[in-house]
Amino acid sequence: MLKYDLHSHSTASDGTLAPAALVAHARAQGVDVLALTDHDVIDGIAAARRAAAGTGLNLVAGVEISVTWNHQLLHIVGLGVDPANAELIAGLEGLRQFRVWRGEEIARRLEKRGIAGTYEGAMALAQGPAISRTHFARYLVAQGHVRDMTKAFDRYLKRGKPGYVPGQWAALADAVRWITGAGGQAVIAHPARYNLSATRLRLLLGEFKEAGGAALEVISGSQPHGATASLARYAQQFSLLASVGSDYHGPGQGPNEVGRLPLLPAACVPVWADWDGFAAPAQA
Ligand code: AMP
Ligand code: MN
Ligand code: MN
Ligand code: MN
Repeated sequence: MLKYDLHSHSTASDGTLAPAALVAHARAQGVDVLALTDHDVIDGIAAARRAAAGTGLNLVAGVEISVTWNHQLLHIVGLGVDPANAELIAGLEGLRQFRVWRGEEIARRLEKRGIAGTYEGAMALAQGPAISRTHFARYLVAQGHVRDMTKAFDRYLKRGKPGYVPGQWAALADAVRWITGAGGQAVIAHPARYNLSATRLRLLLGEFKEAGGAALEVISGSQPHGATASLARYAQQFSLLASVGSDYHGPGQGPNEVGRLPLLPAACVPVWADWDGFAAPAQA
């Protein structure tokens, strides 16, 4: 049986391993099919593909798009996208411009709290074009303002905290269209993390399906035990395929190891069911 991990990050966004190092590490962990799904950027795909060639690891070109849906931040993963697709490239470019503006605004707000220089500090840690709150958190830890990443988010960066900057990310239907237009499958990432009521989750699944969404991450890194069975039922009810992903960000970054995931419940139809060989449809 092949080992799939369809959600991971590299230095192109907020992971700590360069794309080639991520691929090598995943292969060493026994991963057969890896999707690189950086936040709002596909710049790591080419290097990851080159690194995967000839290793037996099948690299799926992916992305994780930031979406604002009914005042809620959501992440929509795209699997099997064509990295040369113009509309996808343009959509992601807009989100990264927002990231830069937001980064400057985060720094202004932190400066009012007496913490100066965070934009430059975070930018120096960001090795790719997608500056993230993760880079601010790493900088705050490195400078000794907080003990660890969790504290950085809890004290400064999460919603309701001084450095939190609300904003409009992509619309759900746009993100799904960018992905499907680039030949990919759209997947709702880590659904258990949004703390949606059952009513709102059903509303989301209905709109997502209507927009052309394909799958739900039924297995996600560090999700509560009880969530899997419930998500499997939602996937069935809404005729959505099931995906699996660790959301790996690098060694020591959170509890998840790449590829170390429970099996999908038997009732689920895997998102890769129709993939030709190992590649997603767009790459066949
Ligand atoms: P951004 O997309 O720039 O708003 O940053 C969101 C990223 O921050 C997520 O993808 C996670 O990698 C990271 N993150 C969010 N919350 C936490 C947390 N409590 N502890 C550590 N990392 C977090
Ligand atoms: Mn992240
Ligand atoms: Mn995410
Ligand atoms: Mn992720």
